[in-house]
Amino acid sequence: MGKTQLKELTNSIDFAATGNQMYRLVAELYPICRSITGNGVRETLNKIRSIIPLEIREVPSGTRVFDWEVPKEWNIEDAWVKDSKGNKIIDFKKSNLHVLNYSVPIRKKVSLGALKEHLYTLPDHPDWIPYRTSYYQENWGFCIRHKDFVKLKEDNYEICIDSTLQNGHLTFGEYFIQGQLQDEILISTHICHPSLCNDNLSGIALASMLAAHLSETNLQYSYRFLFIPGTIGSVAWLSLNEQKLSKIKHGLVLACVGDSGPFTYKRSRQGNAKIDDAVQQILRDSNGEVKIIDFSPYGYDERQYCSPGINLSVGCLMRTPYGEYPEYHTSADNLEFVTAENLAASFKTCINVFNVVEKNKKYINQNPKCEPQLGKRGIYDHIGGHSDSKNFQLAMLWVLNLSDGHHTLLDICMRSGLKFGLISEAADVLVAENLLKESSGESINRVVS
Ligand SMILES: [Zn+2]
Repeated sequence: MGKTQLKELTNSIDFAATGNQMYRLVAELYPICRSITGNGVRETLNKIRSIIPLEIREVPSGTRVFDWEVPKEWNIEDAWVKDSKGNKIIDFKKSNLHVLNYSVPIRKKVSLGALKEHLYTLPDHPDWIPYRTSYYQENWGFCIRHKDFVKLKEDNYEICIDSTLQNGHLTFGEYFIQGQLQDEILISTHICHPSLCNDNLSGIALASMLAAHLSETNLQYSYRFLFIPGTIGSVAWLSLNEQKLSKIKHGLVLACVGDSGPFTYKRSRQGNAKIDDAVQQILRDSNGEVKIIDFSPYGYDERQYCSPGINLSVGCLMRTPYGEYPEYHTSADNLEFVTAENLAASFKTCINVFNVVEKNKKYINQNPKCEPQLGKRGIYDHIGGHSDSKNFQLAMLWVLNLSDGHHTLLDICMRSGLKFGLISEAADVLVAENLLKESSGESINRVVS
């Protein structure tokens, strides 16, 4: 069976089923205790391998990556706090958020006062467990519900964190899909958060399913998917793959894509990159509420991809951004907080964005002196039969007018205010009627020999 065209994916794909598949993956990965290194990351990547043939790569602790060093590997078996009667009052087995992520091993008895110095709570949300980490400063601690914290009595507590922090590896996953061009689109998602659904697992599920579908599709661009621990993962990948960076023409960081908030797009550092235009166009075309925000050097791995010495055209697609929903980095970012429908809508948005990037070409009007006579070519039949005939006719006129070899289809969309789907369809009809020809002057991409 031949591969499908990307454009057809949006018509042929069962989005509800894809959403359900993504949600099932989120649910399957949810219990795993992940961190920036360790077996939780390996287990996660191995599960993704049931969907795509991911390559799993390991970088040894101590490896110098730009200004950073790959840290020691952290693993954890168990953690708990018992009162003097032997009751477990905090239990890692009930929620992996209970332990300060990257806690060093410890086993000792402490007073309530000493214990409290290592407890983290959310007084404003007393039913939720906070998510806290201490990657680069050796520490130990527990995160608990504030309603349990206020009940703690003076006692002699026994604490146990059965973890290891030793030389090992940083692990990440990479999947490359070869298109017709050497030029690449980079898709990156972080894999370092434990039981948190929107911040972490939604991006993993979306990237996995996008990769699965794109691998079955005829593609112009090559696509590189990275499943990496936040910050240190992208720093390490960029440092080890500097010679590949010139091939990356567009990119997206995917995070927080399963909640019910409106889409938010954070532009690349360049601000006017093609990927910025493409995402903004598709979000505008969706007619829903959307938020476009400027780049800032705070957030996910776009910070590294958009650092001044790297400066890739990489934006970040989210629904509600990091830190802007109360459930963020708490136990309330759970399986109820994300839905299959929201994941499916994020999937559809990404496919539409890739379709724009793939189809965003320049054309030349073959009859540029005054308008061509559309009637005698039967083009009004195409227009009359269109569900949005008025706008389709306008799209024809805009494409004919601006196809002078200088404007891409996306430029024409932005100038005309019409949807990309209409503009692209109009271009296809005009090409078929020999009124339009793809501009041969545009050879920014090297074709694979
Ligand atoms: Zn986070």
